Amino acid sequence: MRTIPVARSSSRSRHFLGIRGAFTIAVAISLLVAATPQTRASSPPSSDQGIAAAAAALLPRMIEIRRDLHMHPELSNREERTARVVAERLRAIQGIKVRTGVARHGVVGMLRGGKPGPVVALRADLDALPIVETNDVPYKSLNEGVKHACGHDAHTSMLIGAAEVLSGMRAELAGTVVFLFQPAEEGPPEGEPGGAPQMIEDGALSSPKVEAIFGLHVTPEFESGTVHVNSGAVMASADKFTITIKGKSAHGANPHDSVDPIVVAAACVQALQTIRSRRVNPQEGFVLSVGSVHGGSRFNIIANEVVMVGTIRTHSETTRANAVRWMREILGGVASAHGATFEMTMSESAAVTVNDPALVAATLPALKRTFGESRVLAMKPVMVAEDFSYYQREVPGVFYFLGVRDESKGFTAPLHTAAFDLDESAMVQGVRLLVTSATDYLERAAKR
Ligand SMILES: [Zn+2]
Ligand SMILES: [Zn+2]
Repeated sequence: MRTIPVARSSSRSRHFLGIRGAFTIAVAISLLVAATPQTRASSPPSSDQGIAAAAAALLPRMIEIRRDLHMHPELSNREERTARVVAERLRAIQGIKVRTGVARHGVVGMLRGGKPGPVVALRADLDALPIVETNDVPYKSLNEGVKHACGHDAHTSMLIGAAEVLSGMRAELAGTVVFLFQPAEEGPPEGEPGGAPQMIEDGALSSPKVEAIFGLHVTPEFESGTVHVNSGAVMASADKFTITIKGKSAHGANPHDSVDPIVVAAACVQALQTIRSRRVNPQEGFVLSVGSVHGGSRFNIIANEVVMVGTIRTHSETTRANAVRWMREILGGVASAHGATFEMTMSESAAVTVNDPALVAATLPALKRTFGESRVLAMKPVMVAEDFSYYQREVPGVFYFLGVRDESKGFTAPLHTAAFDLDESAMVQGVRLLVTSATDYLERAAKR
């Protein structure tokens, strides 16, 4: 999940902390050797109950994997160790073919079922964030300044668990399940390709040809183990804008000799907010935030230019395109009214995450049967973004939210914060959610 837009153009700026000492590497290697997975789900799960039992039995191993990843978090496009761990774990599961080096550190697993059928994909993300962990837990990050604060350690662990459960059902699977372990969901470093677009470029959906995709994100907003889904837009598009207002410098005592870009920028910030209040349908999700304003150097000098950086978020690709046009109109009008000029560059971080309505409707009965009506809940779209959206541009997809909040255990801190942690027992429900989504899809396809 992205709360910070990451530019894909060369104009962006973003800094990353990449502290990986020899000690960390040594620990990483020793853990890899020590943590070789072997045991399998004991009996083949052939029903909802079977899946539930298999997922529950895997919880200790999933906790072990999640905590290992949590202790060794890696930033976007730097998930070397994480990818190694994932590949090792997948190779130990019967019937999984493993491809590494996809979109740099991405790993793709493939499980061909015993019967013919379509290909369905399940996706997890691998990267962590440049955040110092403040939680005093036995599995605290050993990579100082880097933390799994978005729950991608749990996503990865759950997808390995799902692969294990599905492997136990292999003979009866009518089709193929592809497991996408994607790097750089939070956005690749400046100048580097990465994330979902690069996974797609590297054949994640085409080799073999994927027909539908499912993914999930943990959230401390919802009670542990509950499943939340909606139909249509569920997460926002995220674009970063950089606006330069160009004026004319002068002595601070002589404003009549200047075109003061700070006055123009102030007027622009105000005017841009009318997009939300007067252009976009009030019932539609939309955000325009100016996150930084920089200009000027001294109290008695009128600046030459002001640079403003911010983000727009929408739940509709039409509104997204319109908003950029409206911004240019407003900036042009306000700047010229003051005798100034402007430049604006946009860079994209994510498209709108849109859950395919037909796929949601078709999958819901299986989810309600599995979890019970009261544990599968509708949700309102949120303004944060996900690059899962790029897969959904290619094939129908559903992105779920899985509650990991437990106040009694102290798991309430928001995602992307130093104190974030999650109720690990929810991973059982996460595995059931992923496995059920895949098996239900293949079973329905077999009846078509
Ligand atoms: Zn995130
Ligand atoms: Zn995330």
